[in-house]
Order: sequence, then structure tokens, then C-alpha cells
Amino acid sequence: RLAHYAALKDKPAITRDGTPITLLHNSGLLADMSALEETGADGVGLFRTELQFMIASKMPRIKDQVALYSEAMRLAGGKPIVFRLLDIGGDKVIPYMRSMSEENPAMGWRSIRLALDRPGLLRTQVRALLQAANGAPLKLLVPMVTETVEFLAVKKIIAREVARLPRLGMAVPEELEIGAMIEVPSIIFELDSLLPNADFVSIGSNDLIQFLTAADRANPRVARKYDAIARPRLKALKAIVDAAHAHNKPVTMCGELAGRPIEALALLALGMTRLSMGASSIGPIKEMILGLELEPVRAAMDDYLSNGHDASLSARELLAKLAQS
Ligand code: PEP
Ligand code: MG
Repeated sequence: RLAHYAALKDKPAITRDGTPITLLHNSGLLADMSALEETGADGVGLFRTELQFMIASKMPRIKDQVALYSEAMRLAGGKPIVFRLLDIGGDKVIPYMRSMSEENPAMGWRSIRLALDRPGLLRTQVRALLQAANGAPLKLLVPMVTETVEFLAVKKIIAREVARLPRLGMAVPEELEIGAMIEVPSIIFELDSLLPNADFVSIGSNDLIQFLTAADRANPRVARKYDAIARPRLKALKAIVDAAHAHNKPVTMCGELAGRPIEALALLALGMTRLSMGASSIGPIKEMILGLELEPVRAAMDDYLSNGHDASLSARELLAKLAQS
């Protein structure tokens, strides 16, 4: 199987009826960067910068951050990397950071909430990223955006750091793109104000599904209880995809859903064309894409979401049937 997938690495991921799909992988440490070469992925769709903080025994200094980011960019050899700003808290514990105990850490003081309350940490990280880019294009992703104003606040902090660069004798990135993660349900209802301000969006299905279903992603008793591609979740995903397309902004799925064949098929059927996943999933997903007639599946999905009142037919069964035919 592995040799078989390796043979696909230089083949572009295009469906049988001609829709090109961008396949990216999720990363966060230098060890996974070699996968770009091995899988032939188009870039890193999600670089989880908090991993460096999670494996360290004390707060990484700015020079450690610069070293990681610039080495990652070097190893990517010109392929794009989306650097997600620190997503600390919830399931991502930083042992040396003093934190109060929270009854519901997933819904607690985490991620961009923490970063906006402690902007020093965020500023240092943004400086490190700008320094590592050294004038090259840079893509930054803001996690756990709950309201448009939070995204704007982060953009303001980034803009201030960019404005300092010339005074410091440092290069301004040739192009700076700032995107928002869609992983808190509330922002789905504010996409009209978010999207004009965002260069791109990335859907984090792990958190989004957890919050849509009120089922803790880290609790095995409930994590898989509700099918991630059941109709109500698909409708939420479709609303995001349609809004992004209406605003002409790229939308990428970077949660675990993107790496499972039937789930990925559902995403393609919703109109998504950019998937970021664990490196080991690229081969199987590319194989699925290469054999796929997408149009009939899209039509069936549209029909399923607009007319289907038959609650007993699951999208999973429907897609599995279509995938076989
Ligand atoms: C997600 O929430 O789906 C996601 C991609 O980010 P993480 O798993 O790191 O929370
Ligand atoms: Mg998340």
C-alpha cells in the first residue's frame, strides 16, 4: 500500500471529471516537514505553533521561535505554510504556564482569548514569524475566532508589528495573508462581516463539531457518538463554504475530517477544494479523488440537504453507496 501511495506523489489530485483539489498537510514540528516531499502535498495547511510550547520545559524564547519557523520555511522549499498563531489551552496544555483550574477548559480561557488578554505573548510570536519570513510571503491563521471584533483586534496587533519592521531595518513580507479559523459556531452567523476582513478561512472540524454537538472531543464516551457528517453538521459546513465562495475567499478544511475518505468525499460534495490532513492520509485521499466523478456526488448532496426529510437515511450511507457505484 505504502509503495502504491508513494507512486501517486507526483500526480496532481484531480477528480475524473476535472476538478483540481489542493491537498495540504498538518504539521507543527520539524520532524513532520519531510512529509511534504514524501507525499507531494501542496504545502502545510496548518502549522500548529503551540506544539513547540507543549514539548518545551520552559517558555520558548523569541530566538527559539524564529529558529523553528525559519527552518520550517526552509524545509518547505517554497511551498506555502499556514502558521497558526498560538492555540494554547483546552486540550493543548502548557505545563509550565500557570493557569487557573477551569471547569470547562475547552470553553475557557484559551487560544486567541488568552492571546488578546496577554498580548505580549502574541506580539513576541508575530515578531518571530515576521523575522523568520525575512521578506518572504507569510500566512497567519487566527484560532478560535468567536466574533469578528476579535479577529480585527489581532489584525491590529499584527499591523503594528509590521509597521515597526522598517525602523528595525527588517524586511516587510512581500505578501501577508491573515486568515481566521472557523471552529466556534457563533462566527458562522457573522461570516458576512468576517469574510471581507479575512484573506482566507480554515475550518477546524475537531472543535467545530465538538461545539456544534456539545460533545467533548477528548471524551471517548461521547466524541464519536454523533456522526460528524450527519445532516445538521453538513448544513453548517455548507453555510461556511457557500459564504466563503460568495466572498471569493479560499476555504480549507484542516480538521481530522479531511483525512478520512468518506468524510473527505462529503467535503468535496459540499464544494470544498482545499483539504489539510495528517500526512499519512494524503495517499488514500488522493487515490479517492483520482477515481471520483464529483458532479453526480455534488448533485446528490445538494438534493440530500435541500429535500431530504427522511431522517433515517444518513449522509454516510448515501455517500458510501455513491462511492461504490
Ligand atoms: C480543529 O479544531 O479542527 C483544528 C484543526 O485544530 P486543533 O485540532 O489543533 O484544535
Ligand atoms: Mg481547534
